[in-house]
Amino acid sequence: RGKQSARGQTVVFTSDQDQEMREALSLERALREANLEQELYLLFQPQFDVKKQAVVSFEALARWQSPALGLVPPDRFIRAAERAGLIQSVTQVLFSKALDALDLWPEHITISFNLSAQDLADRAFLFSLVAQVTKRGIAPYRVEFEITETAVMKDIAASRLLLEDLSGLGFRIALDDFGSGYSSFEYLDQLPLNKVKIDKTFVRKVAQSATSREIVAGIITLCRNLDLKCVLEGVETEEEMRNLSPLSPQLIQGYLYGNPMSQRDVLGLLLAAEHAEEAESTA
Ligand code: C2E
Ligand code: MG
Ligand code: MG
Ligand code: MG
Repeated sequence: RGKQSARGQTVVFTSDQDQEMREALSLERALREANLEQELYLLFQPQFDVKKQAVVSFEALARWQSPALGLVPPDRFIRAAERAGLIQSVTQVLFSKALDALDLWPEHITISFNLSAQDLADRAFLFSLVAQVTKRGIAPYRVEFEITETAVMKDIAASRLLLEDLSGLGFRIALDDFGSGYSSFEYLDQLPLNKVKIDKTFVRKVAQSATSREIVAGIITLCRNLDLKCVLEGVETEEEMRNLSPLSPQLIQGYLYGNPMSQRDVLGLLLAAEHAEEAESTA
């Protein structure tokens, strides 16, 4: 099975690649036809502060409920949206929903929002997001943008300028998936970060590997010395937590402390936390 490329060479696809390409195309097509406002929604996953023993923040995680394709995970449709030139519409819709949710949370609870590589490459677009926050009268420090190394890698100087502007306005910046891919300490040095999120693949290995444990311990210490918040991503079990506790992690995000949940469940959780606190202060 082959295909004639523009230069006239024959490009041969294996059936796997063929299948993948077909899927990618049908994903893009479905996304073009989607009613984004209706079909995209967010779940929110708690970030737990170990010292405070309380949830302090939620990460917004996108979901696409497609009538044609069913539930599509973000790892698949964000890339499709980038290829289809639809990422700005997608991000715009999601960000607006994120602010709707944040609006109903107590003042001390913050939100993290993931930016894609292409979002980060467009200054005017980013500032349209900033304008949404301003217009609603939301304090910028309550909004954290999560960026990945792949997003920054393309042009670190340009990313730095943009992020410095956002940071100057009071927004928080988190470096996501640290320790995976092409992690570079240069980012810690060059970018105006508030937070580092240690990738879950590392957390996963801590129980079995002394080396992984030392690496995670080292990153936690490094963050503390650089005055950066640090999140351990993907903590799933009590056993993992027992292994991680001696490293004195500051923030935990993972199934152990909560799955990504609906806004309704977030509000329930926050209300329960409030009541628990009241009960404690009157006890
Ligand atoms: P991420 O930003 O690193 O988000 C963390 C992912 O880990 C989420 O997957 C979350 O559900 C999952 N996770 C959380 N706790 C655990 C755990 O204990 N164990 C395991 N195995 N997984 C856990 P999800 O929701 O499928 O999102 C995947 C990725 O898609 C995200 O990775 C992020 O890069 C991207 N993404 C999600 N929402 C958005 C969005 O609104 N915009 C953009 N541009 N990207 C998004
Ligand atoms: Mg993230
Ligand atoms: Mg991550
Ligand atoms: Mg990720």
